[in-house]
Amino acid sequence: MSLGPSPRRVSRKVHIGHVAVGGDAPIMVQSMTNTDTADAEATVRQVHALWRAGSEVVRITVNSPEAAAQVATIRERLDAMHCNVPLVGDFHFNGHKLLTQYPDCAQALAKYRINPGNVGHGKKRDDQFATMIEAACKYEKPVRIGVNWGSLDPALLARMMDDNSQRAQPMDAREVMREALITSALESAAQAVAWGLPADRIVISCKVSEVQDLISVYRAIAQRCDYALHLGLTEAGMGSKGIVASSAAMGILLQEGIGDTIRVSLTPEPGGDRTREVVVAQELLQTMGLRSFTPLVTACPGCGRTTSTVFQELADRIQSYLRAQMPLWRARYPGVEEMKVAVMGCVVNGPGESKHADIGISLPGTNEVPVAPVYVDGEKTVTLKGDRIAEEFQTIVEDYVARNYVSGAQRRRVREIPIKAVTA
Ligand code: SF4
Repeated sequence: MSLGPSPRRVSRKVHIGHVAVGGDAPIMVQSMTNTDTADAEATVRQVHALWRAGSEVVRITVNSPEAAAQVATIRERLDAMHCNVPLVGDFHFNGHKLLTQYPDCAQALAKYRINPGNVGHGKKRDDQFATMIEAACKYEKPVRIGVNWGSLDPALLARMMDDNSQRAQPMDAREVMREALITSALESAAQAVAWGLPADRIVISCKVSEVQDLISVYRAIAQRCDYALHLGLTEAGMGSKGIVASSAAMGILLQEGIGDTIRVSLTPEPGGDRTREVVVAQELLQTMGLRSFTPLVTACPGCGRTTSTVFQELADRIQSYLRAQMPLWRARYPGVEEMKVAVMGCVVNGPGESKHADIGISLPGTNEVPVAPVYVDGEKTVTLKGDRIAEEFQTIVEDYVARNYVSGAQRRRVREIPIKAVTA
């Protein structure tokens, strides 16, 4: 029985600016702004925040002449801030005009996202799509052919529904819809190749909003092409619903080796932090063991043995602290992203889980002696007590990082841990 994810599906490697996607490149995390691109200042601020959070590519809406006119400025300002994250332009309806009338925009973008369901109808559709592909060829940019079932090409769907009705055993309407998504993506990719776009400059996505549909569609398309695949559950929703649905759908596909780049399409709370989608995408990949971005804190859920919130506050404080350090630590302490920290609520699982981690602390539960033993590399090193446990534990973490992840001396601790059956 396999103990890990299936080998990655073999796909063509695509270069998006300096970032590679597909082939043997790591699964890449991307995100999208929700600012008005015509507002260059707000867009620069949000792209920068997404990049600092770890987004490796950022997509921006290019929906109007005013937006297209600002793209080169946005690129310049980001470069001036030493933020080299590749920008992807999201085009619908008028992309053919914007890419020809705003050459600086076409040049500044690292990739174009084209939705074949939103490029026009009838003959116009082909002409307008061809114009966008011509721009991609002229400026040597890759293209994501991004099909979405909220905007599936109506002519294609009608054709496939008709064909289906002629079958001896027609498929149900949902199956036809799934097949239409795949057909739209693959036919559009074949057209782009016929018009001169190299196949290694094409990424495909087929986004749907239901978990089972996403799994089914991507399993099918993964078998029918070798284009790099971008995964994402569209309109995933808000808060925990969006996180759970995206993780359930993408987790299964990633486990099967399907997916070269991901986005978690969370709807932010009003005024909420857009960078949350990046954190969730990173945590999905990291908790599956597919990539490492930030040291993760293992914390128990708490129960009746902990009636205070001390350990919850410490777990939250340490995780926030570790994430905030990463822009600096990433360069200074290679390998630190694989460090594991445990913050546990009592002695039932605390010492055991602490020994599994690089550094662990076991806080006192209700009616336990008010001390917090700390384990480093599996050994108990110190017992903290008093009001400054949080500060002292953070200092221990800082010292550990500085001692163990210097000069590119990437380390991995492998230790035999006694397994104890406990519940938490
Ligand atoms: S370690 Fe387990 S028993 Fe102890 S507080 Fe956490 S959940 Fe409860």
